[in-house]
Amino acid sequence: MTPDVEIRLKGLPVSPGISMGMLRVEARGCAAPPLRSITPEETPHEWDRFEAALQRTEEELNSLRDRIRKVSGDMEAAIFDAQILFLRDSMVMKALHKEFDRRMQNMESVYYAVVQNFMEAMRHVDDPYLRSRVTDMADVLQRVLRNMAPARSAAHAADVESHLLAAYDLTPSDTADLDTSRVLGLVTEVGSAVSHTAILARSLGLPALVDIPQLMLKTTNGQQAVLDGYNGLLILNPTEETTTHYRHLQAQKAKAYQALVEMKDLPSETRDGRRIRLAANVQFAHEFDAIARCGAEGVGLYRTEFFLLDGSSRLPDEEAQYRHYRELVEKCAPHEVVFRTLDSGGDKLPFEKEDAKEDNPFLGWRGIRVSLSRPDIFKQQLRAIMRASAHGRAAVMFPMVSGVTEVKEIRAIIDECRAELRARGEAFDEQMRIGVMIEVPSAAMMANVLTRYVDFFSIGTNDLTQYTIAVDRVNYRVAQMFRPTHPGVVRLISHTIEAGIPTAICGEMGGNLSLVPLLVGLGASEISVGTHRLPLIRFAIRHLDYEECRQMAQQALQASDSKTIRALSKALALKSYPSLFD
Ligand code: PEP
Ligand code: MG
Repeated sequence: MTPDVEIRLKGLPVSPGISMGMLRVEARGCAAPPLRSITPEETPHEWDRFEAALQRTEEELNSLRDRIRKVSGDMEAAIFDAQILFLRDSMVMKALHKEFDRRMQNMESVYYAVVQNFMEAMRHVDDPYLRSRVTDMADVLQRVLRNMAPARSAAHAADVESHLLAAYDLTPSDTADLDTSRVLGLVTEVGSAVSHTAILARSLGLPALVDIPQLMLKTTNGQQAVLDGYNGLLILNPTEETTTHYRHLQAQKAKAYQALVEMKDLPSETRDGRRIRLAANVQFAHEFDAIARCGAEGVGLYRTEFFLLDGSSRLPDEEAQYRHYRELVEKCAPHEVVFRTLDSGGDKLPFEKEDAKEDNPFLGWRGIRVSLSRPDIFKQQLRAIMRASAHGRAAVMFPMVSGVTEVKEIRAIIDECRAELRARGEAFDEQMRIGVMIEVPSAAMMANVLTRYVDFFSIGTNDLTQYTIAVDRVNYRVAQMFRPTHPGVVRLISHTIEAGIPTAICGEMGGNLSLVPLLVGLGASEISVGTHRLPLIRFAIRHLDYEECRQMAQQALQASDSKTIRALSKALALKSYPSLFD
């Protein structure tokens, strides 16, 4: 085997931190088998196992083809002919022999790596028909690996080890399902900073990098790696020197972060006395304890969809929701919990699986549109939130609102829920605050009218940026255009705040240290961020001067490009809390 040299891959850092360990490479829909070195004596046995798995796979595919031919005809059955051909493809076999002799690793791992390489090459060909063959290759790969399953007991031993997860892409539900006791960090070949996958990585406190060109080609299962989530580096086969450097840095960062956490009881107030409520964004029950630990003044955004659509086929009923919401409200008392009603669609789980396919999911059946078209389900959630409000302080807000008509409809439904609860004799807080998220430009433009119907706004800068600049928040091809400091976005934020009711910032922009001065200067009354970011943002606010921020924000509102606005805010951030940029 050729000696391993250290390789440094650049990516986009989307969740800070450092982690080190073994890579577990996962292809789309197919987990990489654990890697094991083998001795020359084991070679014949490995080939026998592989041949047996090929035969089993061939039998399965033959019988599938025959069955499909009977029910659907020759065209559909031909899919399996293509898969059978690929199973013993001479180029794949040649590459497999070569790689097996070179690596001397278990056959599952070598076969996996070889097929991955073919799939990757195929993804880049011009011919759309050939590109579509990637799915067939992935199917064959999955079947062969499953048919080699007797070797999986060894696999499970490695599965339980801590690892860095490498994947082409991860869906928010893949990320939500991760076992954080074993996954140390995430790296993906594509992705963007404001996808829900990145947001979840941050909320789970997992260092993460996305947009690493050719990641799947360059990594191998079982390889040692260092993930530097500060500088956007994935270091493969790190030398002793690199590992020592990162261990040192990791310890240093952990110590500095702990010092910030210890300041959790200090008020989040600027040097000249302007209070900014600092709340937490949460999505999972296991984060509830972290809310108090990081010193959050309650929850500014609870993304209820992760609880409601947890993969099971039925939504929790009113009673189950009430118990869950009540637990959170009681944990946060005396602070307030802002419940954001179901926001399905977009890059998150669809509400109904059969309706999942939409040509433009971010412009489609998403957020409040789903709730208003399913009043029974909407009311169930509203009643559960209202009942929880009797046990502490709760507020409710609505995603993807585009204008006044929707808000009027929402208010009528809330009134119905109130009447129903009164009739049932259920307690609830009659004064519970009602708000809307400002994430669609039309809602921002109508902010001064919306103030007649709601108590507060919460600006979702992730979607507001996406919809204002027309740049898909999860499309890595346009990720560099996704700029919350675009003058158009900054003016909409300012216009919303100027409407004069309490206005929070709950998008990812609020967790960006360089942009805190801008948000404070524009007049945000609250910032809500993931619990891991919170101690840093508190420190930042405490080192700012509101008057200085306000003047800078006025200048920013006159600027004509994103770069200038960012530079203005960052300069003030660097001046006010340089230690956070070390
Ligand atoms: C936002 O859009 O900024 C937001 C906070 O909501 P989400 O990220 O869940 O869409
Ligand atoms: Mg949103």
